[in-house]
Amino acid sequence: MTAAAPTRPRPEPSWLTEEFWAAARRHELVRPRCRACGTSFFTPQVACPSCLSEDWAYAPSSGRGTVYSATVVHRAPFPGLDTPYQVAIVDLEEGWSMLANIVDAPTAPTPIGTPVEVCWIDVDAELTLPAFRPVA
Ligand SMILES: [Zn+2]
Repeated sequence: MTAAAPTRPRPEPSWLTEEFWAAARRHELVRPRCRACGTSFFTPQVACPSCLSEDWAYAPSSGRGTVYSATVVHRAPFPGLDTPYQVAIVDLEEGWSMLANIVDAPTAPTPIGTPVEVCWIDVDAELTLPAFRPVA
């Protein structure tokens, strides 16, 4: 008997994040936006980090942004991730940011300020991951 190959760790959707992951399966990027003050934020949390209102809803994002910071990981923190891979903080044009992989990049790490757009990694029928790639 052989041991199964390690698999990539999976997000575990909660009541806070299940709508985000459902949108990802449709290849739609969404972010929480506060109805009280208009702040967009990420990651999803109970209250708006700007005004503490709990009245927020997911809103669509263009998926366009720029690289705030990027790095290349050569030693994965756990099994199941193929190295090297690139991780970046991306500033989205609606004024929020998220941490995600950068793929299809001609250089690594991708320079700060590089325009990027969201793309999708369909892992299986239940899981799609957002990633970003430089805009040609
Ligand atoms: Zn707010």
